[in-house]
Amino acid sequence: MAVIGIMSAMHEELAAVLAQMPDEQRVSVAGRDFWVGHWHGHTVVAVLSRIGKVAAATTATVLLERFQVDTLVFTGVAGGLGLNVRVGDVVVATGLVQHDMDASPLFPRHEVPLYGRARFEADATLVAQLASATQQVLGDAERYLGLETLAQFHLSRPQTHQGLVISGDRFVATSAESHVLRQALPDALAVEMEGAAVAQVCHDYGVPFAAVRTISDRADDEAHTDFTRFIREVASRYSLAILSQWLLSRQPV
Ligand code: SAH
Repeated sequence: MAVIGIMSAMHEELAAVLAQMPDEQRVSVAGRDFWVGHWHGHTVVAVLSRIGKVAAATTATVLLERFQVDTLVFTGVAGGLGLNVRVGDVVVATGLVQHDMDASPLFPRHEVPLYGRARFEADATLVAQLASATQQVLGDAERYLGLETLAQFHLSRPQTHQGLVISGDRFVATSAESHVLRQALPDALAVEMEGAAVAQVCHDYGVPFAAVRTISDRADDEAHTDFTRFIREVASRYSLAILSQWLLSRQPV
């Protein structure tokens, strides 16, 4: 029986997922609550990722070791870096890099020592399935969010992007910082704090991984006063709808 791991970065996202799992059982490991149950006929283990690379890597390792998860999907929010990546868009990562990894001059900048690589790939099949689910959801955003929320957050015609997502132990909240990141990694569409670490763990275990991030901010000086509301009213609804579409489109095995 396949076991799907769902890591949510936000409490609100996890709560929305758990509301879909009528039979979930809580198992506590390493100070984390893992929720084992079913959703659309699939066996699912849902957990809060925790914030930052190490915390998320520990959560992922437990999912793989203790719960024998054989597919891992991460959902959360991220800062938009790509020029056309706007608040309310969704990025499906095709590859992930730790932007704060730098063992130069011993290794090239961003390369993870002893791996011979900076970039960890997301699983191409999962990316295609999740991008398609995302497109369906964003194409019908009004149904999932309501007109009022769309207007309040100035969201119009949200787009699905696929490409590089970068991760580091820093909330990027100045234009100067995001400018530096864009210069160092020009292909990066979005920045967050966990994805590349989880991708590395999944690479070690040979388990397919993908990450879907709703853009909550532009990683710049514009104070995001409504971050919490955005998570509750936009990002967690998108995550839920995307995961639900994706699970429905997969044959339980
Ligand atoms: N206020 C939040 C904390 C969010 S920390 C809380 O109380 O939980 C930031 C989270 O959002 C991390 O999971 C990170 O991956 C993501 N994120 C969103 N925008 C980001 C940005 N501009 N830079 C880095 N991470 C970002």
